[in-house]
Amino acid sequence: MLKVGITGGIGSGKTWVCRIFQHLGVPLFEADLEVKKLYSSDKDLKTELIRNFGQESYDENGAFNTSFFRSILKDETKRSILNNIVHPRVFERFESWSLEQTAPYVIKEAAILFESGADRTVHKTIGVFAPIETRINRVIERDNRSRTAVLDIIKMQMSDEELRKRVDYTITNDNENSVIKQVRDLHQVLINEARHF
Ligand code: ATP
Repeated sequence: MLKVGITGGIGSGKTWVCRIFQHLGVPLFEADLEVKKLYSSDKDLKTELIRNFGQESYDENGAFNTSFFRSILKDETKRSILNNIVHPRVFERFESWSLEQTAPYVIKEAAILFESGADRTVHKTIGVFAPIETRINRVIERDNRSRTAVLDIIKMQMSDEELRKRVDYTITNDNENSVIKQVRDLHQVLINEARHF
């Protein structure tokens, strides 16, 4: 089974592109969603987080403390500790999920594909790119976040220049190139690739 990872900066349109692949029948594993599910369902993970980051990790009702972890993510060392705890568990979930799929290839969507080491869990990678102003405007409109807040996230993420060097395929999600056509074309390429797996 060929495994393909998709990533891109905030507002680049990863989710949008993944929806098109899904329409073409490609099974989709949403790593960020899986992380959120694990935070609330995995008891060992909960214990591990409390051991490393304290009781504040979960609130009095036992719910994962998102705002606390948002501040944790700003600290590079803590971010790396968190990633080392969480990502191996997501990798395991992805492996078992993949085994259940019957399509020629599957897609894993991850905001931090390379930073988390998830690139090593896939055979091919796709980067989604869009002009920075387009991304900022999309996120402001989608999340009602301020321009500064979006820029802060962009600064924390891998630059598009770096990402371009690392991925096998690129999709340009600006308002000029047809994304559907690019995805359809890439779908054919990946189906051909999948024959070798
Ligand atoms: P994040 O990293 O925050 O999850 P993302 O890369 O997954 O972002 P999307 O959520 O897919 O980005 O796209 C951001 C917003 O822009 C969404 O509201 C989406 O509907 C919109 N959008 C994405 N691509 C296009 C497009 N080609 N045309 C119009 N709107 C788009």
